[in-house]
Amino acid sequence: MNKSPFNLDQQNQSTDSRIIAALERISQAFRVLLWNESKELSLSPIQIQVLIFLLHHSDEKRKITYLADEFNMTKPTISDTVKSLEQKKLIRKAHEQNDTRSYIIHLTKKGKNIAERTAAFTNQIQVPINKLNADDKENLLLSLMGVIHHLNKTGVVTIQRMCLSCAHFKPGKGKQPHFCKLLNKELENSELRIDCPEYQITN
Ligand code: SF4
Repeated sequence: MNKSPFNLDQQNQSTDSRIIAALERISQAFRVLLWNESKELSLSPIQIQVLIFLLHHSDEKRKITYLADEFNMTKPTISDTVKSLEQKKLIRKAHEQNDTRSYIIHLTKKGKNIAERTAAFTNQIQVPINKLNADDKENLLLSLMGVIHHLNKTGVVTIQRMCLSCAHFKPGKGKQPHFCKLLNKELENSELRIDCPEYQITN
């Protein structure tokens, strides 16, 4: 028997398969919502994603190499995206003093306005999540983090900045909560971060 989660016989007998099919529908919703924004602004979906990323991340992450890893693209492809954003006057490059080949990418005022406006493209996905009770939200967050953690360990997703894989993270045991050694702070499940500015890769 075909074990694909998209085979309907398999799917209707397996909760796991239906969860995968549901995740695929949600990823489709992200694509559609992003595409709607991009059509309106005459930008490609990846150009919008890069603008939103630049809006919310620090200098060391606003470089070509980091962006290539973040978006699972080659350096030449992401360089083309950045070049196109520069031509539209949505970003500017600031070359570094000690290495003129390397540069940090900054949003221009126009780029910042578009990034702030488009960053709300997930609003319709947010609506049903807001309605979940606190326990359901926590369970959903933990489950999704577990999926992302696995995808990162197996090389499908190159970058993650989550507590679960951070060098500063001490997982909780029994009634003992998780602990962040950097922030010197206990972390409840609901406080675990998915994109932490202080994330430190584990050696
Ligand atoms: S530094 Fe950030 S990612 Fe790392 S454990 Fe602390 S809160 Fe989590």
